[in-house]
Amino acid sequence: MKLSITNLTKTYKNGVKAIDNLNLEIGTGMFGLLGPNGAGKSTLMRTIATLQSPDSGSIQFGEINVLKDKMALRKVLGYLPQSFGVYPKMSAEALLDYFATLKGVKSKTDRETLVKEVLEITNLYEVRKKEVAGYSGGMKQRFGIAQLLLNNPKLIIVDEPTAGLDPAERHRFLNVLREVGTNCSVIFSTHIVDDVKELCNEMAILNGGRILQHTTPTEATEAIKGKIWTRIIERDELESMEATFNVLSSNYNQDNTLNIRVYADEQPAPEFRTVAPQLDDVYFIALKSDTEVTA
Ligand code: ADP
Ligand code: MG
Repeated sequence: MKLSITNLTKTYKNGVKAIDNLNLEIGTGMFGLLGPNGAGKSTLMRTIATLQSPDSGSIQFGEINVLKDKMALRKVLGYLPQSFGVYPKMSAEALLDYFATLKGVKSKTDRETLVKEVLEITNLYEVRKKEVAGYSGGMKQRFGIAQLLLNNPKLIIVDEPTAGLDPAERHRFLNVLREVGTNCSVIFSTHIVDDVKELCNEMAILNGGRILQHTTPTEATEAIKGKIWTRIIERDELESMEATFNVLSSNYNQDNTLNIRVYADEQPAPEFRTVAPQLDDVYFIALKSDTEVTA
């Protein structure tokens, strides 16, 4: 099912325009919403999840007019907010059984089947008897997914789920999300480019409440092929390089020199050699040109 967002705008009471006339169409599969802190990711997600109202605009999910028929959307929605509250001292299994009861699954055997299924999908079956309060960050995030799966949602929204996870937990979490995403639309926000690279078939870059680019990871890197250049410089040369070239990023080498990556249609100077573009380059180009336009 398709999610269409049209001319969406949200201004908070303090005057911050968090969403600025945003238009976006999202199909099925894994959709990555990539943007820095303050870009408007959480605001957009809360608005789609019907937890807050925009000033203007419309949101359509399949047949559902989201802003008019909030209950209809909530029935097919699974939403995992950026920060999750405190969990009671209950095992994952007992807590999920309780949530399933709240959702109206009356038969005990139906609940057992359902709870077992979501525990298995999220790789928590082995630790089902442990208290969720004692889970690691990554396990809590996977529990959040288990919980929203009880609904059998058609649309899943997860807000920065990998923030603060260690590499192994992050990897495990992304695998779970990948599996879940084969059956429905998943919108996933992050400020980590690698999350999008590993997971998403489609992506949008959000900044200042606007979509800077709506693309696919492959298409986006393909489009800048032959335009990313690199060279090694001394660390005190960085400032002059930045003044002369469109420097996207710089990374320290062990000997205190820097590798810089520059965006240019043609070889900027003889010392530069061309390298394969990465999704980071795409992200930095989009953000840099946006800052230059709005500055
Ligand atoms: P992100 O999730 O991408 O970090 P947010 O949607 O949280 O972005 O925030 C977008 C902008 O709106 C930021 O400038 C933020 O400070 C502001 N903002 C978010 N929530 C509120 C709020 N409840 N009241 C006022 N300003 C807010
Ligand atoms: Mg956020």
